[in-house]
Formats: sequence, C-alpha cells, structure tokens
Amino acid sequence: MATPGLTTEGRALRERMRRFIDEQVIPAEPALGRDDAGTVAAMRRLKAAAKAEGLWALGHPKEIGGGGLPFMPFVYLNEVIGRSHWGQAAVGTLSMQDSIMLHLYGTEEQRRRWLAPLVAGDIYPSVGLTEPEVAGSDPTLMQSTARLDGDHWMVNAHKWFTSGANRAAFTTIFAITEPDAPKHARFSAIIVPTDTPGYEIVRVVPTMGHTGGGHCEIRLTDVRVPKDNLLGERGAGFLVAQKRLGPGRIFHCMRWLGQAERAFELMCARATTRFAHGSLLSEKGEIQRYVAESAAEIQAARLMTLDAARAMDEGSEARVEIALIKFWGARVLHDVIDRAIQVHGALGWSTDLPLATMYVMARQMRIADGADEVHKSFVANKKAKAYKPVEGWPSRHVPTRKAELRERFADLLDHEAANF
Ligand SMILES: Cc1cc2nc3c(=O)[nH]c(=O)nc-3n(C[C@H](O)[C@H](O)[C@H](O)COP(=O)(O)OP(=O)(O)OC[C@H]3O[C@@H](n4cnc5c(N)ncnc54)[C@H](O)[C@@H]3O)c2cc1C
Repeated sequence: MATPGLTTEGRALRERMRRFIDEQVIPAEPALGRDDAGTVAAMRRLKAAAKAEGLWALGHPKEIGGGGLPFMPFVYLNEVIGRSHWGQAAVGTLSMQDSIMLHLYGTEEQRRRWLAPLVAGDIYPSVGLTEPEVAGSDPTLMQSTARLDGDHWMVNAHKWFTSGANRAAFTTIFAITEPDAPKHARFSAIIVPTDTPGYEIVRVVPTMGHTGGGHCEIRLTDVRVPKDNLLGERGAGFLVAQKRLGPGRIFHCMRWLGQAERAFELMCARATTRFAHGSLLSEKGEIQRYVAESAAEIQAARLMTLDAARAMDEGSEARVEIALIKFWGARVLHDVIDRAIQVHGALGWSTDLPLATMYVMARQMRIADGADEVHKSFVANKKAKAYKPVEGWPSRHVPTRKAELRERFADLLDHEAANF
C-alpha cells in the first residue's frame, strides 16, 4: 500500500511494526483469545517485547512518556497495528484516547496518579457514557447524576457496555452535574476509581460470538469521590468526550483497514489455491467480483481515511470527514471479511481461521462509537444544509448565507451538537 508523505524513517518504522504484529502478535492470537491466565501471560510477554524493540506507545506525546511520533506517521502505523485485534494492547496504544483526554484536561494530581501508569500499560481505563434505560445515540438523555456534597461528588449511575471496567483502574463517568443548564452543558466527566465503595460490576454482558472485551453493566450507588476528580470544567462533559473521540476515530479506521487487508489476503490465498468445477476459484466470475470489489472498497476507504487525517493534521476538526469514514470504513470492513468467509466455505465459518472472530468484531463497529445511522444523519444534515432550491427552478441550487441557515436549521444544529 502506498504511503504518501511518509519519510524513509517512517516507512522503516512501519515495516518494523508490521513484522512485530505478523511475527509475534498474530501467532499468539489463539492464546490471547482464550481469556484465561494464559492470556494475561501472553499479553505480558508481548508488551515486554514491544518495549524492548522500541515499539511501545509510539503515538503518545513524549512529555507523558510516549514515543512522540507526529500525527500522520502514527496514522499510518495504525494500519499495520490493526492487522491483529490484539495489536493495540501489545504495543501500548489501547488506552491512547483516555491518555490524551487526561493529558488535555487532567489536573497535575490526576495526571500523576493515572496518566503515567496508563501510558506504561500498567493499568487500564474505562469510560461510562451509555445507559441501558436511554438511547446512547442521544447522550443528552443520560440520567446518571453527580452532586457536590461538601468536598466530594456523590455519584449515582447505571451504565452498560462500559468496556473493560472489570479490569480497569478507573471509569470516567459522564453524569448530570448542572441539571438547570441548557441540555448540552448539563454533563461533566468525573474519574471514579473502580475500587470505590458503592461501585458495582453488575455483570459482564454476554455478547455475540463471546469474543471478550469485558463489556460491563455497572451501578454506582452513592459513590463518593473527591471533588478534584472532576475532569475538565463543570458542564463540559460533551466537550471532553468529543476531544476523546475525534482523532481516535481516524486511528480506529486505519486499524479496520489493517483487518480488512488481512481478510483480503486470506481471501486471495484461498481463491488462488481452491479448485472446483474445472477451475480455481480465482478464475470464476463471481469470486473475481469479490476480489475486485474488495480491492476497490479498501482503496476508497483508505484514501478517505487519509484525507480525514490530512484535514485534521491541518487543524480542522474534520467532523464530516470523520463521520464519513466511521460508517463507510465499518461497512467496508464488514463486507470484505464477509466475502473472505464465503470464499473459504465451511473453513471460513470455523474458528480454525481468525475470520469468524474478525467478523463479529467488525459487526460491533457499526454500533459502537456511534451507530452508522447517526453518522450518516450528521453528514446528510451538514451537506444538505449548504444548499437551498431557488424558487421556480428546483434543480438549481445555490449556497445560502450562514446566518439564514442557522435560523432555518436551528433544530438540526441542536441535533448535531448532541451527535458526538
Ligand atoms: C462493542 C461495544 C463497545 C462499547 N463500548 C462502550 C464503552 O466503553 N463506553 C460506553 O459508554 N459505551 C460503549 N458502547 C455503547 C455504544 O456507544 C452505544 O451502543 C451506541 O452509542 C448506541 O447507543 P445504544 O446502544 O443505546 O443504541 P440506541 O441509541 O438505542 O440506538 C439503537 C439504534 O437506533 C438507530 N438510531 C439511533 N439514533 C438514530 C438516528 N438519529 N437516526 C436513525 N437511526 C438511529 C440505530 O440503528 C441504532 O443502532 C459500546 C457498544 C458496543 C457494541
């Protein structure tokens, strides 16, 4: 795959990372997927190896103990890290979004207590936004609360799909702290250590394919944490969450490409060696369509993702570009793995190959971190609102003035602010 803009050193680093993932992480996948004591030991060995080879936490800023790699080279690195679902954890980038959130908004004490061990890979974070009772797609509906009681926050919350809470040192809980404020300024982010009295893991929610991930239902009942555990300003919870998600989605999409490319390689290897009805699968029209369409879709998703990264690198929030790649990239990932499974027949359905697990993981991407429909709706609103029909000539569209648009689409803008 072409890597425009990457220096010779950047390309060499990417190649080293690719070798590490292909030669050390992928062979360890059977042990890593079992979710037992052997898994912990296997992951510990990989982390030590990544540190020894100078491949640890490369995208984290230097001042917090990371490699200080600039944004674009790190974007490219994610494509090869993503070849294995376990790549992120093995090379110390799993908690990057939380590290950046703490780096941007954490107090001196919060950074000392949580950030250093997070970057070192000694602890894991978790984030609690979604609640079972209300639509996670509209976070303004969240019901969890936190109120000041002397020097402490008293938190009452019911969350679920708090991924990794069962092994995390803390959960960043999003809760209403300003009930009388406008709806986008009601919520704050509060760091709650998972061993605080009143913090209960109700259960690890059983999920499709039993692929692990520790998606927990948690309940916090009158949990007291010092008022300094507030992350960012009071009422700025949505801003904190938005900053956490933005660049993270670009890294996700690059890793999905790594997964899609691996599935594509498996598809081609099978198609060029399996013989049926007088020819190799790779010589049959329908299978050729799978290969050609997969190649085109991967290429398109990759260029779109790199374009979003470029826009962000140039200082834009790139929200439309990121929404585009979030739903488009998730679909490409899903469809390429689906075709790869099909080309393998029964073997594709078996867990002798990684494809079955990859498929389940790919399916979740269309829901987690914002359902497809929400991202599409955001893009459609943004795109459509720049145009209005001219009276008497419905097919001719001209851009309208911003102020007029704001007035006409006040409701949509409201909706857009809720969509992060
Ligand atoms: C694997 C996984 C890991 C997750 N990890 C975390 C985590 O660590 N922390 C956390 O807080 N949350 C996490 N989540 C939750 C995730 O963020 C939510 O599932 C997501 O935001 C959707 O919310 P919901 O499940 O409540 O679905 P709902 O909001 O109830 O939406 C259900 C469906 O309604 C449709 N829909 C919703 N809004 C619209 C709209 N505007 N237009 C059209 N259709 C719409 C979509 O089809 C959507 O899938 C995780 C989810 C998964 C699957």
